Amino acid sequence: MNLHQNPHVLITGGAGFIGSHLADTLLDMGWQVTVLDNLDPYYAVELKRENIAPHLSNPNYHFVEGDIQDSELVDTLTGSFDAIVHLAARAGVRPSIKDPIAYMDTNVKGTQNLLELARAREIKQFVFASSSSVYGVNPHTPWSESDYVLKPISPYAGSKVSGELLGHVYSHLYGIRFLALRFFTVFGPRQRPDLAINKFARKILKGEEIPVFGDGTTRRDYTFVRDIVWGIIGALNYEDSEYEIINLGAGRTISLAEMIGSIEEVLGKTAKINRLPEQPGDVPLTYADISKARELLGYNPKMEFIDGIRAFKDWYLEREIYNLPI
Ligand code: NAD
Repeated sequence: MNLHQNPHVLITGGAGFIGSHLADTLLDMGWQVTVLDNLDPYYAVELKRENIAPHLSNPNYHFVEGDIQDSELVDTLTGSFDAIVHLAARAGVRPSIKDPIAYMDTNVKGTQNLLELARAREIKQFVFASSSSVYGVNPHTPWSESDYVLKPISPYAGSKVSGELLGHVYSHLYGIRFLALRFFTVFGPRQRPDLAINKFARKILKGEEIPVFGDGTTRRDYTFVRDIVWGIIGALNYEDSEYEIINLGAGRTISLAEMIGSIEEVLGKTAKINRLPEQPGDVPLTYADISKARELLGYNPKMEFIDGIRAFKDWYLEREIYNLPI
């Protein structure tokens, strides 16, 4: 992207977990930010309103409440955008199995609407939130962008593969630089309440049982949200090729049992475990090869897992004390 003074970035999904952190950082850097978000009720809308509240008084920030599926609304967004960071999506693997059509409508049709906007307005930089889930059950670890991935095992994962492919079409036909970033389980302050760390911490603090699927040996590459934000900013600055798929993970794995142990340690409380069978659509392991991100984006994830859990705890407990939505 041409980094002239005050670049203007359209962030879809900017009221959510990752998007609101990205908006924080871009505004701190003096960039202009427009957010398009429909404040989807997938989780507490009050939490999303809290996420955007500090931004609303910033003259460089503009919030549009609306749906990415509404092509008329998307066409009429005002602003001369230098880049789009497309984060709005129905997220979550398990709910996608229950409601696959809604996932395709938002994640595929919605993505196409944003690509159409980029085509019509000649917006040359498009960063797309893809996911580690596109790898399915991939036995070759760590997972590399050159691995064959067209075997997704959930509608959510299928919708993200579709987004990556649609992006290639628009990049090829219209010269839009399209960067698909495959995020690996993101955590930190404001984490989505449906994700395990948030859900477990909440239940452990209340003395409730936590549902643990499988025997605790499944492993995840957990990535701290600030590291993801710097990866996205690296992608906004990237200009060397027209289409890239890039993993953003931490480049190490933590078992489910270790994750629960870290939360127990940080909260100083023992978890009550309700062991349940593995869930369809879940994968046993996610593990990112991040050498491409390091090379192309200067990506350098820094947060130790336990310190990230501490940052989450500080955010969480402050909200509990002030009776804010979690
Ligand atoms: P989030 O749910 O907190 O944020 C998504 C935002 O998109 C929400 O604010 C929601 O209101 C908005 N949104 C949903 N549907 C919309 C629609 N139709 N129109 C406009 N806005 C809509 O989720 P997140 O964890 O911040 O994830 C952001 C992106 O990163 C998503 O695309 C997700 O699939 C992807 N991702 C996240 C993770 C993770 O671990 N959090 C991992 C891999 C990929």
